[in-house]
Amino acid sequence: MLTIAWDVDDVLNNLMQEWFCKLWLPAHPGCSLAFEKIVENPPHKLLGTSKQEYLKSLDEFRLSKQFQEIKPVPETKDWFLKYGDNFRHIVVTAVPMRQSHLNAGWVLSNFGRWIRTLHFIPSLRKGEKIIQYDRNKTDFLHWFGKVDIFIDDNEQNILRSQELGIKGILFPRPWNSSKLTVKQTLEKLTRISKL
Ligand SMILES: [Mg+2]
Repeated sequence: MLTIAWDVDDVLNNLMQEWFCKLWLPAHPGCSLAFEKIVENPPHKLLGTSKQEYLKSLDEFRLSKQFQEIKPVPETKDWFLKYGDNFRHIVVTAVPMRQSHLNAGWVLSNFGRWIRTLHFIPSLRKGEKIIQYDRNKTDFLHWFGKVDIFIDDNEQNILRSQELGIKGILFPRPWNSSKLTVKQTLEKLTRISKL
């Protein structure tokens, strides 16, 4: 059975869009940016704020009830329902230590039928001192050594994973260069997994 590693934010869920529409826009009624125009991640410059203020707002959202209520990306969930049973699945996510239990809870509530292994790389926040096992997702994938396919919306993560011989799939978001739709991307995953 092939092993697929999934990113969580903006792959299994629509974190950025949910945060932007439910927290950022209501708090900044003058903001005229559309979600589709968020072509940078982190998007603080486009939002006219500092990285620190952006992360503060995102962290606040992760701790809110609204985060727990986020629905999975419909196409992704459909893919799991259709093909999920043919693979082993793990999650490799980057999340602040203080919100990691909520992130894990969300994954297990929504994808626990398939995903039973979760690894997170702590996204460091000001003043935190945390033992570092891995510098990034690639370090973890290298150490773990069992992943065949990796899906992420961060282009750098995908490129680095490919250097390890892992088949990387870039999940389409406005801030990356993918020209595929979500549906086409998941079709590509189905094709690759049959090779
Ligand atoms: Mg992501």
